[in-house]
Amino acid sequence: MFGKGEELLKLTEEHSCLISDIVIMKELQTTNTTKEEIFEKSRKILKVMESSSSRGLKESVVSVSEMSGGDAKKVYDYANSGKSLLNKNLVTAMARGFSTSEVNASMGKIVAAPTAGAAGILPAALYQAREMIGCDEDAHIRGLLTAGGIGEIVARNATVAGAVGGCQAECGSASAMAAAAIVEMSGGTPEMSLHAASFAFINIMGLVCDPIGGLVEYPCALRNASGVMNAFVAADIALAGVKSLIPFDEVVEAMYKVGQLMSPTLRETGLGGIAATPTAIELRKKHLNQED
Ligand code: SF4
Repeated sequence: MFGKGEELLKLTEEHSCLISDIVIMKELQTTNTTKEEIFEKSRKILKVMESSSSRGLKESVVSVSEMSGGDAKKVYDYANSGKSLLNKNLVTAMARGFSTSEVNASMGKIVAAPTAGAAGILPAALYQAREMIGCDEDAHIRGLLTAGGIGEIVARNATVAGAVGGCQAECGSASAMAAAAIVEMSGGTPEMSLHAASFAFINIMGLVCDPIGGLVEYPCALRNASGVMNAFVAADIALAGVKSLIPFDEVVEAMYKVGQLMSPTLRETGLGGIAATPTAIELRKKHLNQED
């Protein structure tokens, strides 16, 4: 039904509808399911997302390696201290991003959206957006479906894997998905959603994947927290009426090409970037018994 952003946009124009409507239509056409079943399944997904993005706010969730954890609670407590520079909603959104990352690193249950490494961004962005906008569950579900439509286009035409395209592909995709969803939840047009998705990629193009010891922990949790912010920034820029000079499909292609140009040491091998710093090498020895 659609494989590119341009086709998705054309369909929304032809049907005078939202991106989520087209994603629902596609699901109905390609799977043996009903609209009610799609919404019910989405509700279950959101429940897991809610749980993973809130667990770390109340308790310190430490990773299996014991190398990281507890930052979601610190950031959440800070959000509630009244001292943060960003407003409380956005700092809470960051805390939620940390939370799912910590639950993932502790082998807890998360929704890989689009991957486990970037699983913190979409739940945090969508939950916080819902709270800030004051929309209902149906709009939240539609946000999830819109995010899925954007993720599908990226996966089809480029990659969502850090091992293939760096963190720009993984956290970048999650941010782009979330940005498009926030725009729709806020009442923006499908065109604005695609602009927001473009901005999310452009803002972090070239971001490398450099997890210490090859574990999805550090700097992954930080990238999830900042990825949530990137989604809000991109959504707000698009909602303000700013248009991406470069169409979404071309941005996705550029992101993929940048990923191909990256050294393999910067694509999830844990051999470059932050992972190759002297302190990271010490941490590997201490927590993972890994030698050089
Ligand atoms: S640094 Fe690599 S492993 Fe970590 S979140 Fe980014 S893409 Fe995933």
